[in-house]
Amino acid sequence: MLKFAFRRRLTLSRLSVLLASSLLSAAVTMPPRAAAQIDDQTRKLAHDIFQQLIEINTTDSVGSVTAAAKAMQQRLLDAGFAPSDLYLGGPNDRKENLVVRYRGTGKEKPILFIGHLDVVEARRSDWTTDPFKFIEKDGYYYGRGTQDMKDNDAIVVTTLIRLKQEGYKPDRDLIVALTADEEGGKSNGVDWLVKNHRDLIDAEYVLNPDGGGVDLSHGKALSVDVDATEKLYGDYQLSVTNPGGHSSLPVPDNAIYHLAGALIRLQRYQFPFELNSVTRAYFERLSTIETGETARDLKAITQPDPDASAIARLSGNPEWNSMMHTTCVATRLQAGHANNALPELAQAIVNCRILPGHSLEEIRQQLIRIFDDPKVTVRYVDSAGDISDTAPDRKQLPPPPLNPEVMAAIEKLAAKMWPGTPVIPTMATGASDSVYTNAAGMPSYGVSGIALETSDFRAHGKDERLPIESFYRGLDFYYQLIRMLSGGA
Ligand SMILES: [Zn+2]
Repeated sequence: MLKFAFRRRLTLSRLSVLLASSLLSAAVTMPPRAAAQIDDQTRKLAHDIFQQLIEINTTDSVGSVTAAAKAMQQRLLDAGFAPSDLYLGGPNDRKENLVVRYRGTGKEKPILFIGHLDVVEARRSDWTTDPFKFIEKDGYYYGRGTQDMKDNDAIVVTTLIRLKQEGYKPDRDLIVALTADEEGGKSNGVDWLVKNHRDLIDAEYVLNPDGGGVDLSHGKALSVDVDATEKLYGDYQLSVTNPGGHSSLPVPDNAIYHLAGALIRLQRYQFPFELNSVTRAYFERLSTIETGETARDLKAITQPDPDASAIARLSGNPEWNSMMHTTCVATRLQAGHANNALPELAQAIVNCRILPGHSLEEIRQQLIRIFDDPKVTVRYVDSAGDISDTAPDRKQLPPPPLNPEVMAAIEKLAAKMWPGTPVIPTMATGASDSVYTNAAGMPSYGVSGIALETSDFRAHGKDERLPIESFYRGLDFYYQLIRMLSGGA
């Protein structure tokens, strides 16, 4: 969805700042690392699963998530998973989700891994290659879903099978849910599982490889990102109606002026400054890397009584501004029906990115207060474009403190695979399926071992591709991470 693209943009601007730091100048001079150590059998298995997933069309328009879920179910059955440890189900026959449980000793609570199987639409005519053919070319795998996120779906399924073949016994159950409709559609699989089969996916915490990842610049690792919380996406429609009339006889009560006035008030409004455990850790880390006034400002805003002028200065940076505030901005405008008539209808769309802890309806109410004009009606627009008078009470919960066990494992693994590269907890400024698991009380982290050039981000775009070696290193990363988190390091 919008999330990923935004995250990468965020990363770029953040990195331009971080690059100046001494901490990172050590990282960027590191020599390139050798390819991952993966045996041929595992490599072939991963390749075949990845190919199979790419070549099953899972778009909302004509594809079938069920077909992909069933293919993975068969692979797991063939690898010796008990039929009773596999569950296939969903709200309709195109949107079935697969849940598999790898049984451990039960010493610790389970970990849940979530991965969406659906992909964004792709037209053959837009692409150089067939988006639903897995094509190997110039050191890349091409196909819709190679970055978002069939790569990590294949990685997680391959890793389960590999661990099974090795006879590995984790100290906790490992649950994997492969799901529908993260990118759109009306049958979000994680939401559906939380509501209908909570027992199947109940876990201490969630790892979601749809977020996080390693940012590269010219082959050098810059940061290992861990998405530890997310903003919530919300669209609102403003509308003003008026009887209209002849434009030669204007009256003060004008739909366009009412709407324009409301938008100007929004422009001048700043939502309250707010940090959570993740953004606080992020700014604290940044304050030790930055220098001069910026460093002092960053330090000042993380204090219990943050300094208003420091907030104002740092808010000049759009990325930092977005991490410190809920933002709402006008994105579309439409009004009037003739050059010589008073407008009968004026409408605008305002897009909000809401900080954890605040609901969609709370922000709608806040917008009404900001507009301060009873003529301006504020409605909620859902992801399908349907409009309602009120917004859902859904919100991102404020993030709990970072899980030390998860962070320590990632730090240790990152030090081994990308030496000298900082692990940075971040707040994604859009939303992924973690919104549902977080809301269900399972802290969720976006974690991926896929390394991508920040200039080669192609998720949702044409000619989506993944460097071949990035895939196998990402596979190695998840194999080691899962072992570390389940007593088998
Ligand atoms: Zn995705």
